[in-house]
Amino acid sequence: MAINTNKRIPVKWVRDKAKSAYEKKAKCYICGSTSELELHHLHSITWLLESWANKNNIDISTDEAILAVRDSFISSHYTEIYELVYTLCNRHHVQLHGIYGKSPSPSSVSKQKRWIELQCEKHTSGDSNFRGSSYTSYFSQFLGEIDGTRKDS
Ligand SMILES: [Zn+2]
Ligand SMILES: [Zn+2]
Repeated sequence: MAINTNKRIPVKWVRDKAKSAYEKKAKCYICGSTSELELHHLHSITWLLESWANKNNIDISTDEAILAVRDSFISSHYTEIYELVYTLCNRHHVQLHGIYGKSPSPSSVSKQKRWIELQCEKHTSGDSNFRGSSYTSYFSQFLGEIDGTRKDS
């Protein structure tokens, strides 16, 4: 199945190269925080690289091999690498990967997007106690109804 035995190495080469051109926004898309910002790819570069290599029968098992195809991989995945990205603070980034995994599968792209938009809406709706996950949100809502001090929608 997998061409290479160590997934991290080829991906790292791609990241190093692509990083210089990343356009990170000035604040977290969800909460507006300006510290510890990170870039999240809706499409995991690990997945993109492996499926591209498999599909085209390209060897990415050595540094030399990956360096030889790196530019062509990046240019044929320009949208996924540079446009379908979100700038998130570390907290929200970690939270997202906690839900969708370290390398989210391609089938989760629309779900990730919905999750991000939902967190963003919740944040801008002014609930300052909101902790970011729907799990927490559910319980704070639940507790709010119990003690009657607040009722979030
Ligand atoms: Zn954030
Ligand atoms: Zn990410």
